[in-house]
Amino acid sequence: MRPEILFPVFTPITSLKGVGPRIGGLIENAAGSRTIDLLWHLPNAIIDRKFSPKLLDAPAGVIATFTVRATKHEVPRHNRQPYKIYCENDDGVLTLVFFHAQKDYLEKQLPPGEVRVVSGRVEHYHGQIQITHPDHITTIEESQDLPLLEPVYRLTTGLTPKPLSKAIAAALAHTPKLPEWIDSAFLKKNRWPSWNEAIRSAHAPSSTRSLEPSAPARQRLAYDELLANQLAIALLRRHIRQTTGRSITGNNQLRQKILSQLPFSLTESQTRALDEIIKNMSAETRMLRLLHGDVGSGKTVVAFLAMVNAVEAGGQASLMAPTEVLARQHLATIQTLAQSAGISCAALTGRTKGKARANLLADLKAGQISILVGTHAMFQSDVSFANLALTVIDEQHKFGVHQRLNLQAKGHGVDLLVMTATPIPRTLMMTSYGDMDVSRLTEKPAGRQLVNTVVLPIERFGDVVIAIKRGITSGGRVYWVCPLVDESRSVDLAAAEERFATLETYFGSRVGLVHGRLNEAKRDSTMSDFANGQLDILVATTVIEVGVDVPEATIMVIEQAERFGLAQLHQLRGRVGRSDKPSSCLLLYATPLTKTARARLNILRETDDGFQIAEEDLRLRGAGELLGTRQSGLPNFHLAELPIHGELLAAAEDDAKLILTQDEALEGQRGEALRTLLYLFERDAAISLLRSG
Ligand code: ADP
Ligand code: MG
Repeated sequence: MRPEILFPVFTPITSLKGVGPRIGGLIENAAGSRTIDLLWHLPNAIIDRKFSPKLLDAPAGVIATFTVRATKHEVPRHNRQPYKIYCENDDGVLTLVFFHAQKDYLEKQLPPGEVRVVSGRVEHYHGQIQITHPDHITTIEESQDLPLLEPVYRLTTGLTPKPLSKAIAAALAHTPKLPEWIDSAFLKKNRWPSWNEAIRSAHAPSSTRSLEPSAPARQRLAYDELLANQLAIALLRRHIRQTTGRSITGNNQLRQKILSQLPFSLTESQTRALDEIIKNMSAETRMLRLLHGDVGSGKTVVAFLAMVNAVEAGGQASLMAPTEVLARQHLATIQTLAQSAGISCAALTGRTKGKARANLLADLKAGQISILVGTHAMFQSDVSFANLALTVIDEQHKFGVHQRLNLQAKGHGVDLLVMTATPIPRTLMMTSYGDMDVSRLTEKPAGRQLVNTVVLPIERFGDVVIAIKRGITSGGRVYWVCPLVDESRSVDLAAAEERFATLETYFGSRVGLVHGRLNEAKRDSTMSDFANGQLDILVATTVIEVGVDVPEATIMVIEQAERFGLAQLHQLRGRVGRSDKPSSCLLLYATPLTKTARARLNILRETDDGFQIAEEDLRLRGAGELLGTRQSGLPNFHLAELPIHGELLAAAEDDAKLILTQDEALEGQRGEALRTLLYLFERDAAISLLRSG
């Protein structure tokens, strides 16, 4: 349970003074629904109100503060006209402009003859100096409290700066004093403030420099977040290493049979990865291993042979895929090979229902099914195995540290192998996979052709149609991807539907359309029509990213390629070039293209190495945008900015390891503080591992 000291920061924002349901809703869109989300919502700019030039010299566009006397109120004759208040001082005249003004209110604010301090953005209008809707109007005494440096926060539609700033101030006022969890020598060496000072000063920047990631307060907060993450991973790692597993050692007979049936021989790195996995499975400790390889590097067959090893040893194995389509495809791939070795396989997904499901569960429990392929439906509570020895998870970016933590906390005691094609840069590897051992597939199967990648403006649409016509005539098939950044954005969906309609006018009924809003059955049937050649062109939103393996597909067209992450484009490109036929990838962009965007797309033209692409993308854009963090399986950091804080990450990694060697149960004074840190960053599942030992 979360410690009491943190209760105030996990309360809903509507419990803060001045935050009602309406403002609360707007703030929630911008920052989040809890007080802590406001604390993490750091300013990205500052307004300097110290500037107070002579009125005559005040340049347009800047924020300035003036001390003036109101001389006259000019009440508008129609309500489309603004309300004007004329003011002056020794240097000149200032006009204040208000639309939809309330007369009474303004008369109270700026009574004629009185002196007031006014701050806002200066405009020049017909030779006059004016401010429309000043940000502040105060008396001279009150102006002492006027924030001379005001933080600027990211807003959303409908939200104005004032209520957000007020809410953040209230959140800060509510923040309890937290104990120090950073080693005091390390803190001193870096000259970092305490957590409370850091969060306060991050919200009260004194210059633009204090907004930068290198500012001490920002560094400290970033370090806290990285430390919480690395500590959680270290705990998970230790937990797994301590959990006794079972020694699974097959006799190699079924594997040999299957290898002899394969139409190819394994690559060197496939053989090496398989050896590592087999060795790991035979150890008494539990396996938690990542099988990391670029798209098309042949992970599935390696995972399959590991499952066969489990079967040889008298156990069962399961393979979890992120989607129904992919589960069915894995089953099809595996089944042909498994049959030749007499291994029984089955699929269990959300669509397995009624009698079929009941029979399947019975067979599974009786041990008559050796390999079960499926979706997360396999983790339902009534699914039980006779003797599950290995679980393989085909991650495809959807399965992050948190899910792994939860899965572990649930106590599944079997060996675990996670397959991922996410081209995670080495610098980020430990933020996500520090708890796992890694096997890498570093080469692609022989005979693979490079995909010819071309970058074109959308204005060349006509040429693209001609090119794909040619491709189809020579037996190829075409993926046509439209961007879908957010499932809920109907604009993107409309673009895909429109593209589908346009292509239909050229290619008639040989074009299909899939997107995330279609029901699963329709999506599957369209995908399989494409797979078995009833369709030549599949127009899709990014759902095909985790889609089917269609060796005949030789052309990948991606529209508005500039809107995608490079790693994602690389994954999409990996859907073609899966046969011995030459393939191409056409990256279409909307003009004009920024320099950075062009540089990014050119990287794809220049290399086919997913890791190099990820490193370059990270360099050009920063980790947050890489892939779109949410689907990348990378943790979504609030405060840490990788790779800018890369050095801190390495330090946090070392610190986390050291902490656990010095205080393995986190019971000392610092240990207690570190528990608070873990709760602060919501690594609650990691704490449950502490308790269970
Ligand atoms: P990944 O999951 O790593 O993207 P897959 O496992 O889907 O890649 O393999 C891609 C294709 O390569 C499959 O059609 C598979 O049968 C084939 N393949 C796998 N290993 C080899 C190999 N050693 N030689 C030739 N083809 C291979
Ligand atoms: Mg695969």
